[in-house]
Amino acid sequence: MAKMRSLLLTVILLVVAAAARAGEVDRLYVIDCGWAHAADQSLWSPGVNVGIPIDFSDNCYLIHHTGAGYLLWDTGITDRLAALPSGQLVQATGQTWHRSQTLVAALAALGVKPADVRYIAVSHVHPDHVGNVDQFPEATVVIQKAEWDYALKLPVKPFNPEHNAQLIEGDKDLFDDGSLTILSTPGHTPGHQSLLVRLKKTGYVVLSGDAAHFEANWAHRRIPAFNSDKAQSAASMEKIARIIAAKHAQLWINHDKPSSEALRHAPEFYE
Ligand SMILES: [Zn+2]
Repeated sequence: MAKMRSLLLTVILLVVAAAARAGEVDRLYVIDCGWAHAADQSLWSPGVNVGIPIDFSDNCYLIHHTGAGYLLWDTGITDRLAALPSGQLVQATGQTWHRSQTLVAALAALGVKPADVRYIAVSHVHPDHVGNVDQFPEATVVIQKAEWDYALKLPVKPFNPEHNAQLIEGDKDLFDDGSLTILSTPGHTPGHQSLLVRLKKTGYVVLSGDAAHFEANWAHRRIPAFNSDKAQSAASMEKIARIIAAKHAQLWINHDKPSSEALRHAPEFYE
């Protein structure tokens, strides 16, 4: 009987905790979190556009949820690059990365301190997405368990392994109110994920991480040579396409520079 009662109490507490966080997304900011010049775009589109350079955008997305507070989707390339005017070459991809401002400064301009960020959800653990996680030691990192396991095996850890983390397996309605839904979209990396955001005025937006890098790669379902799993990559793109159709959602492709530039950037926001 006592056991039943404590179980019931636990259930009530969980429901109350979920209700306390339930709410809606009232603001979504697009923040410039770096850019790169790549010498040969065919690394991302095998056999296509060989030897042709391309520029990448790299965004962070600051999301305000009325119940849970601030959530950051990806953190961009490391803030250290803001001090290097000619950028830094990454040999493996032939990309030279730049940052025109730090993430911390961009947040400060919005009146947001690192301690105000309660959650950091990361699409995956490549350096252009997790470069600044450790600047938010109080935030909970929301990541797929498969990605976390993969990260822990890397020679250089993408962020402090002691960081508070919420490990997810598959899709997850983060605050149980349909406003922010993590979508498991593996293939680029073993535990890659995307985020479905519901906004009152804008409607649904899918932040697709690196499920596709450019508009043309999305349109032609091109899969980079270095993805961890080709079949999973293809299946994840189809999953995103199904959700876009069902929700009449917009797809925001993080690294596609022309479409990124067409978005309103902070301090403006989407609601
Ligand atoms: Zn990337």
